[in-house]
Amino acid sequence: MDEVAPRADALLIDGERILAVGRLADVEAAVQRGARRVDLEGQTVIPGFNDCHCHVLGIGLGLSQIDVSADAVRTIGDIQRAVGARAAAVPEAQWIVGRGYDQNMLAERRHPTRAELDAAAPHHPVMLRHTSGHVVAGNSRALEAAGIGMRTADPAGGEIERGPDGEPTGLLKEAAMELLLAAIPPPTRQQGSTAIVRATEVMASYGITSATDAATGEGESAEPELAMYRGALSSGAQRVRILLLPQIRYVAAAGSAEVHVTEEFAVGDKPEWLGIEGTKIFSDGAMSTRTAAMRVPYAGHADNIGMLLWDEETLVDMMRRAHGAGWQIVTHALGDRAVETVLDCYQQAMDGRPAGERRHRMEHCMVFDEALGRRMRELEIVPVMQPDIFRLGDGYVAALGLDRACDVIPLRLLERLGVRYALSSDAPVVPCDPLANIHSAVERKTPSGVTLGRENGIDVMTAIRRYTVGGAYAMRTDGMKGMIRPGMLADFTVLSRDPASTPPEEWPSLRVTMTVVGGEVRYKP
Ligand SMILES: [Zn+2]
Repeated sequence: MDEVAPRADALLIDGERILAVGRLADVEAAVQRGARRVDLEGQTVIPGFNDCHCHVLGIGLGLSQIDVSADAVRTIGDIQRAVGARAAAVPEAQWIVGRGYDQNMLAERRHPTRAELDAAAPHHPVMLRHTSGHVVAGNSRALEAAGIGMRTADPAGGEIERGPDGEPTGLLKEAAMELLLAAIPPPTRQQGSTAIVRATEVMASYGITSATDAATGEGESAEPELAMYRGALSSGAQRVRILLLPQIRYVAAAGSAEVHVTEEFAVGDKPEWLGIEGTKIFSDGAMSTRTAAMRVPYAGHADNIGMLLWDEETLVDMMRRAHGAGWQIVTHALGDRAVETVLDCYQQAMDGRPAGERRHRMEHCMVFDEALGRRMRELEIVPVMQPDIFRLGDGYVAALGLDRACDVIPLRLLERLGVRYALSSDAPVVPCDPLANIHSAVERKTPSGVTLGRENGIDVMTAIRRYTVGGAYAMRTDGMKGMIRPGMLADFTVLSRDPASTPPEEWPSLRVTMTVVGGEVRYKP
């Protein structure tokens, strides 16, 4: 990934850093004293993947929740069996939490109802998180525990879905999810730390060496989650470097005049392993739940153009304060109406100047046209994209119709316009598997086998570049990560064969055979 010297056959590391890279004879000559020699027998070393948008705690907690994703269930009956089996195994009144269902992938093509979840677990509160993380489905016990009834008003920026009789159906969208989430006992600090460590084990197994938690903190204070991350770090078992993005409410809350600085967020004294980077703002919802803010209505829903979570004035005000206090701002903007609004707001908050080294980001940018792409470049806003179509692509077709779905995630357009961007997973929305996501960035095939605008895809080496150099750039750590170059951190991944010469049809046989972070092996099967 180093354009000066793109290929080499040996590297020398000393402690946490890379000392020399190049031809074997030259690297051998650079050895000062005794060195341990590792022969990779013709395998390929690439810079470690940098997943600059995922949810680390969420990945870890998800490992102990029931899997109701498309990997595990095909029908609502399957979901009921999974919930019922868990209910039989845990005491009554204990919450049953499931993760990753996708109505687009179920035979019934709809969300499970409250009555169906009641039938599976009449005595336990049940909550299933949608794969997007923007909708949850609860049963009657869960709604009861959260105090949600016929007379409960929709919170600002959220919706309690109701049937024709006015009764909640169990589906809670966007801000309304918080009502239910608040009723679930949060993980203890110890449970959270353990979950984070387990998440880093999973990430290291996929060849990731750095990850960014893209929305740190839930509820009143970020401190409980920060304590979990500190706990993971001090356990000594954390395998992957982590940066955190505390939510804007802890930095420059809407409606207040306050602003908090980075130093107020305590994360310990190993910034290369755990640090605070930017602050996270959500501006709209998700595609699969039809809550992303679109210029054109969703297919078959002429009255639905999704939702913006803030008015422009509030967004600008939050951004202006965070920008003034030196923060990198990271804003979720998925639909083109959100992308446009967020660009307008950035422009105002920065008084018309480009972001420069601040590298304010825009997350997802699933739908946008060339004019908006040009504005990203002019304002130097860094789009952070998720190339998965392999898992969620059919949902994009359902939401937008085939024609518009072919133009989602226009990576080729970003390349052509010269916009600097990064690729990432948004796990646990989809697994944090860079090789699978890179394959998807190239092939753009949905689970049912439809190719969504292959011309919007990119080639393999470009995708790897955006998942390594791109991630480091988005996280403002490109001086020490993203390339194998002397002076940089010894963070790299060994692949079973050279990805550049692996034909697309053989890509699934590519394996991560070792992950090294800071000069130490953190994963080896
Ligand atoms: Zn996310």
